[in-house]
Amino acid sequence: MKRIKDIDLENKKVVIRVDYNVPLDSNLNIVDDNRIKESLETINYCLDKNCKIILLSHLGKIKKEEDKIKKSLKPVSIRLSELLNKKVLFIPETRGNLVNEAVNNMKSGDIILLENTRFEDLDEKKESGNDSELAKYWASLGDVFINDAFGTSHRSHASNVGVSQNIKESCLGFLIEKELDNLKLITDNPKRPFVVILGGAKIVDKIGTIKNLINKADHILIGGAMAYTFLKAKGLDTGASLIDEESLEFAREMLDKTDKIILPIDHVVSDSLENSSFSIKDTISDSDIGLDIGPETIKLFKTYLENSKTIFWNGPMGYYENEVYQNGTKELCDIISKLDVISVVGGGDTASCVINMGYKDLFTHVSTGGGASLELLEGKDLPGINI
Ligand code: AMP
Repeated sequence: MKRIKDIDLENKKVVIRVDYNVPLDSNLNIVDDNRIKESLETINYCLDKNCKIILLSHLGKIKKEEDKIKKSLKPVSIRLSELLNKKVLFIPETRGNLVNEAVNNMKSGDIILLENTRFEDLDEKKESGNDSELAKYWASLGDVFINDAFGTSHRSHASNVGVSQNIKESCLGFLIEKELDNLKLITDNPKRPFVVILGGAKIVDKIGTIKNLINKADHILIGGAMAYTFLKAKGLDTGASLIDEESLEFAREMLDKTDKIILPIDHVVSDSLENSSFSIKDTISDSDIGLDIGPETIKLFKTYLENSKTIFWNGPMGYYENEVYQNGTKELCDIISKLDVISVVGGGDTASCVINMGYKDLFTHVSTGGGASLELLEGKDLPGINI
């Protein structure tokens, strides 16, 4: 796997796989442009080398024709153009005459963004299934391929692995380099005590990571809805809180195996997700939904965090979509931001929370890839990195 500086890019036509899988609101406004900003270093480097730049990215999942309207990369091309202060030509196609013509007419320093690569998924999952004809076509557009989409590097798709297999030279961009260098602080002999914070809703996606972390971490602090599955597995009342039923047995096994898992001791509860009036309870009754960690839990988690040297965090501590239940996540941000520790946030919702709450620069690293960083932590090789 080559890094960008290992390759002579002068005057080359480069295909860059970026990660513009950004959240859009119902009016198609970009809610968080962090991933676009994170792509600028590699793009600017290629501009300095007088490259012609062809950008590929996915945005969300495309399962039916109607999904296309809400998942176009057009708004991204506008934001990218603002950030670069330069024209970005958006092509509303993923292949064909429009694309060929635009690429053939490119001059040095021109930038083209093709439409969402996953539009190809409507045709027998050609992008996600790494269709070789599609991969060859995208590869034929350039001389060099740069993968800079960390968020999809755990997937073997036509726009990353496929293109790299069909082009003369490939390398990793600056964003992936930065991600790998920072995530090494967690995967390779982390400074101890090493504390992991896990939250969010689903355990089933994180089973591999949890199994691996049970051996690696000194303590695992669990909040979010995930905590209620563990509390239920312990035999405690969890009322109407969200439970990942299929992971109850796994949670029981983990609790039997280790005393490293630290669970909440009090809860912010209400009777619905939308209700903003709440109470704080040590024990949960039948109609209660646990929506955030309580103040005593924050104090308890703080004692572990203050004694740590390395912190990895994946998953919000509460139902943060309702502002009232953001407190636990915000308090942990505040605590961690004041500590002299290595602190890494593993992408996804937690990264959005940390960025939107204004703490991004106070963490050692905020990853752009939730699934990818979890798979790295699991000890897996990522196909998009081994190009
Ligand atoms: P995940 O995709 O598994 O990381 O979960 C993220 C989701 O978990 C976010 O939508 C959060 O709002 C949600 N979440 C976290 N804590 C809770 C909770 N106590 N009750 C309901 N949803 C929660």
